[in-house]
Amino acid sequence: DALSALLEKWTPQTADAAGLVKKTYSADELRIAIENGQLINYYQPKVAVASGEVVGVETLVRWRHPTDGIIFPDQFIGIAEAAGLIDDLTRAVFAGAMTQAKAWQERQLRLRIAVNVSMDNLASLNFLNFVTELTEKAGVAPQNVVLEVTETRLMQDTRAPLEILTRLRLKRFRLSIDDFGTGHSSLAQLRDIPFDELKIDQGFVHRAWANETLRAMYEASLSLARQLGMEVVAEGVEDRNDWDLLYRTGCDLAQGVFMSRPMLAADLPGWIERWRERVRT
Ligand code: C2E
Ligand code: CA
Ligand code: CA
Ligand code: CA
Repeated sequence: DALSALLEKWTPQTADAAGLVKKTYSADELRIAIENGQLINYYQPKVAVASGEVVGVETLVRWRHPTDGIIFPDQFIGIAEAAGLIDDLTRAVFAGAMTQAKAWQERQLRLRIAVNVSMDNLASLNFLNFVTELTEKAGVAPQNVVLEVTETRLMQDTRAPLEILTRLRLKRFRLSIDDFGTGHSSLAQLRDIPFDELKIDQGFVHRAWANETLRAMYEASLSLARQLGMEVVAEGVEDRNDWDLLYRTGCDLAQGVFMSRPMLAADLPGWIERWRERVRT
């Protein structure tokens, strides 16, 4: 049959060509890529559901590899964490984001800018220092800087991250709990850390309108965030139906391909114009 015919022809090369096998990169390659400025920031809009206003963007890093093209973060963030390169990576991404935020500010584009933070970044004061320093240098108000924290595994020692997040909060940076409902991103963190924003994972958003279980989880997360006074972002808003559910349930912000994929900074002003046109009609 067709399947066994396919399997017969299968080689690692054909699978690779079909994009089925992901190449793994070495820590050395990644270190050199960071040093040589091969990491590029993309930005995805966060839109207020009630008004349609673009309130901010999330910075999403890509690796522009000299031979392999654009590499997505799921193929190198883990390597950066394991190899002790995550502070260098986050610093590079954050520096780029602040340069961009400053440029937008000068063009009167008022946008909050979010950057992803690994739990490993919160192990030492290094992160606190460069975030504060780069924000100040760019002349960006900490209120307009959102730090999206994801916890992918259990922390050995949770006191250091807690202290660093609390200090950032006191400096008026906005703290966001990412991928809420998955992994270790959960209730215990909400109890311990003063988050301003909660991001409901895309797994509970896309098609929640069509699935009672998803919808219950989406609504429970929304209601929890409300009661804790947090702003809520729904991720993975892929179509009109997803958007309509957020609208009906009063979710604050939406992010996803229904509005736009992550894009280069240069494309953002043009996209905002087209989006405003789309909202008007
Ligand atoms: P995330 O923070 O949850 O980011 C959202 C991911 O969903 C992004 O994937 C984004 O491109 C994708 N996405 C956007 N709209 C939609 C949609 O409508 N539907 C679906 N299914 N997906 C959508 P991306 O850019 O590949 O990033 C993957 C993850 O890598 C991020 O997940 C984040 O955890 C991590 N990451 C990205 N940039 C950085 C960074 O600079 N530092 C760190 N530490 N992690 C990063
Ligand atoms: Ca994020
Ligand atoms: Ca997320
Ligand atoms: Ca995610």
